[in-house]
Amino acid sequence: MYQVGTNMPRSPPSKDQLNELIREVNQWAITNGLAMYPPKFEENPSNASVSPVTLYPTPIPKKCFDEAVEIQPVFNELYARITQDMAHPDSFLHKTTEALALSDSEFTGKLWSLYLATLKNSQYKKQTFRLGIFRSDYLIDKRKGAEQIKQVEFNTVSVSFAGLSEKVDRLHCYLNKANKYDPRGPYYNEQNMVISDSGYLLSKALAKAVESYKLQQSSSISSDPIVAFIVQRNERNVFDQKILELDLLEKFGTKSVRLTFDDVNDKLSIDYETGGLFIKDTKEEIAVVYYRTGYTTTDYTSEKDWEARLFLEKSFAIKAPDLLTQLSGSKKIQQLLTDESVLDKYISSSEKKDSLLKTFVKIYPLDDTKLGREGRRLALNEPSKYVLKPQREGGGNNVYKENIPDFLKSIEERHWDAYILMELIEPELNKDNIILRDDKSYNEPIISELGIYGCVLFNDEQILSNEFSGSLLRSKFNTSNEGGVAAGFGCLDSIILY
Ligand code: ADP
Ligand code: MG
Repeated sequence: MYQVGTNMPRSPPSKDQLNELIREVNQWAITNGLAMYPPKFEENPSNASVSPVTLYPTPIPKKCFDEAVEIQPVFNELYARITQDMAHPDSFLHKTTEALALSDSEFTGKLWSLYLATLKNSQYKKQTFRLGIFRSDYLIDKRKGAEQIKQVEFNTVSVSFAGLSEKVDRLHCYLNKANKYDPRGPYYNEQNMVISDSGYLLSKALAKAVESYKLQQSSSISSDPIVAFIVQRNERNVFDQKILELDLLEKFGTKSVRLTFDDVNDKLSIDYETGGLFIKDTKEEIAVVYYRTGYTTTDYTSEKDWEARLFLEKSFAIKAPDLLTQLSGSKKIQQLLTDESVLDKYISSSEKKDSLLKTFVKIYPLDDTKLGREGRRLALNEPSKYVLKPQREGGGNNVYKENIPDFLKSIEERHWDAYILMELIEPELNKDNIILRDDKSYNEPIISELGIYGCVLFNDEQILSNEFSGSLLRSKFNTSNEGGVAAGFGCLDSIILY
């Protein structure tokens, strides 16, 4: 049995044990859909691959996990309040985002111009409900001796892996229960293994939004409205999404469709009187538009894709998320919130405020404010403790440590405003786990990132529901090179609390 509290290393598996474990993982994964499409799958849509996973759960301090769970509704509330406030033209964050739209015209600027377009001569009834499906990501910092969750980023659009997170948790529980970790009996105390209900809980939030929509449109609705998953062309992470679709139908009786931006342009129409969004062919009404695309520049391949986004935004369907909720998740706003006087505007309870502040590391702007000038100095002269981030999502955009000064010098200074400089969090390395990816196993030190899901339904004034919605653990190699941290490939992991 795993020694709770001691974080005792496991002895490495023998070659035979390892092979058996790999076989078990593959068979369980295929049986249960812990899978992804490989690159270029279009010609062989019946061939999926087992998702990259760890063979064992990774130990996470219970204190840290509990703190992350407890604080999620506070973050949900915070980002709902921010979004509500951004809608007021004279608010601080409205003006901030307006300025950001200028310094990052390629993406923030585009989303912002769509938002402005929805305000102008909108011919349809305006939907005031918004659904936030969020994930707050943390690393556990070990710098100050104690272990403390520190937020990496707060995601407000297209958060992934809620479905597959459940699966990998159950995989590790199965391996434990079936004595695959240790022939003598379950190696871990099952009570300390976290099983996330995130797939179910996200579909529950979508179903709840559908119910709210039905109440709003009760006079005009003829049949049960549905959820539209707006997805990337050639999406490889389909099965993660499919888990939500299946739960929606089986557990909540709500149908869904998958649409790309092309489909939106070709297949949908808006009813002039009710603002209702319809599938032209089937006359089905779409109550909720749920984005699993649209969070990065490459998701918009042409002007037509931006038009599709605007079309959806103007309809009366509830958006998960709408443009403002998406924009509230910018790295710029994350930076501003580390200033207590900004946080004060949105969270009145000092207890809640303190618990939020505890999870922040230092983040600097690179603008012409006092703090911004300090940020520039650190970025150019002491970059080794920092990561530089643009206003982008989806990975691969950050500049680390010693690469920062040259990178900054390579771009025009007027664009520096669009970046933030964030203190690096230093998590503990775990040397005991094994990553399985494409039939190869790797036993290298990993770092693990904890994600907590949260769902919040709100309108211009009120928060109508606010929930913790499960957890995720992703792990990746931590390979250092001269340039800094080159994050290796990530995989799904599960949590064993100690
Ligand atoms: P993206 O929006 O592209 O996902 P993130 O802010 O999540 O960007 O950063 C990507 C990855 O970089 C994270 O998953 C984490 O591994 C690493 N990272 C980001 N910020 C920090 C930080 N402050 N300290 C340590 N690692 C970080
Ligand atoms: Mg991220």
